[in-house]
Amino acid sequence: LEDARAEGERAYELDRAHVFHSWSAQSQIDPRPILASEGSYVWDGTGNRLLDFASQLVNINIGHQHPKVIAAIQDQAAKLCTIAPQYANDARSEAARLIAERTPGDLNKVFFTNGGADANEHAIRMARHHTRRYKVLSRYRSYHGGTDTAINLTGDPRRWPNDYGNSGVVHFHGPFLYRSQFHAENEQQETERALAHLDQLIRFEGPDSFAAIILESVPGTAGVMVPTPGYLAGVREICDRYGIVYIADEVMAGFGRTGKWFAVEHFNVVPDLITFAKGVNSGYVPLGGIAISEKIAATFANRPFPGGLTYSGHPLATAAAVATINVMEDERIVENAARIGSEILGPGLRGLADRHPSIGEVRGLGVLWAIELVIDRATKEPLAPYGSSSPAMNEIIAACKAGGLLPMANFNRIHAVPPCTVTEAEVREGLAILDSVLDIADSHVGS
Ligand code: PLP
Repeated sequence: LEDARAEGERAYELDRAHVFHSWSAQSQIDPRPILASEGSYVWDGTGNRLLDFASQLVNINIGHQHPKVIAAIQDQAAKLCTIAPQYANDARSEAARLIAERTPGDLNKVFFTNGGADANEHAIRMARHHTRRYKVLSRYRSYHGGTDTAINLTGDPRRWPNDYGNSGVVHFHGPFLYRSQFHAENEQQETERALAHLDQLIRFEGPDSFAAIILESVPGTAGVMVPTPGYLAGVREICDRYGIVYIADEVMAGFGRTGKWFAVEHFNVVPDLITFAKGVNSGYVPLGGIAISEKIAATFANRPFPGGLTYSGHPLATAAAVATINVMEDERIVENAARIGSEILGPGLRGLADRHPSIGEVRGLGVLWAIELVIDRATKEPLAPYGSSSPAMNEIIAACKAGGLLPMANFNRIHAVPPCTVTEAEVREGLAILDSVLDIADSHVGS
């Protein structure tokens, strides 16, 4: 423990001296050293074990340090660490096959990227060149990544400082019955009115001007709003009506997170492009990509696709994807995510809502869940305003960590997003910690 403590302290000091962090005011952060991890847990430098109910950034779908994936990366490193994308490579080819076999419909070709943002970036470029149109539709309450196009697709406040007004992105409201923009009283009304809103927006903006609609199949960081029945099928119809490319962003929702390989399977729709990253290899080596339909692939059969990356289909990353997908299949990890969600995590969170008046809504699928914390169930006033935090939320997050749980939090929400491999006992441990810290939220009810 003494060695670990010294290692952690040195990591922290060097971090503070030299590491520049994402999305942060650099002097206002306090990054905790994490020195080891296994399965659903991580360990810090002071001997604390934390249950990873965030799967880091909702990417460690097979859990930390899976031995078979580690071995596959080690074997690939010994064999061939890297090769340029213009050559054929066994790890890349096999990863593409395994992904194409699992995507719905005729999405049979895969373009590999380094992560999710550049997958969306290239998907939009593909749609623009395929349709020879420029504008793109994306919903409010969404996250699509941190690069220029991806952050402009994003429908949350992280876009604001990066929006120079020329991205060609038009935002719309998606279905979210709990905070309905459409004064809907039930799911059917929400679906119908959200689709009518999208259709009208397209007609008012010029139907021939849109290259693509990009939608997270289940918006993740933005709040886990599971689409109302019929909505995604309606979006598919609208895309077909106006010749618009339907891009499903499954960077967070894909690869087992919702209890299916891809979340669109819950809704029986086949998009034209699916973007993925995170769960494809649980982030053991950075990887993302686009699964491409035959029609869009055909556009670039005799016309060059104007895009590429030095590390497209990197052998270490794709070998990790091959091992991850095989492990998920062999160990029935997608099935575990589905069962845990419907039998343990979902009912457990709903049980918390019965006891804690601060919970306004519980929603999710598989191991992708969120609870909305409110100070008044009737008015739905959130415990932190849209786009920011609050002392109460900060206190809850700190109490989770002190209690041994790494939560994912966004604005007034706590997300329960453990690895897809999480066990029933681990979920019960996490629920018990949440149960104890939610008293803090309850104390603000009516304030
Ligand atoms: N799309 C979605 C839905 C995401 O959740 C994320 C990351 O959280 C991204 C895109 C961006 O992925 P990356 O951070 O790998 O660029």
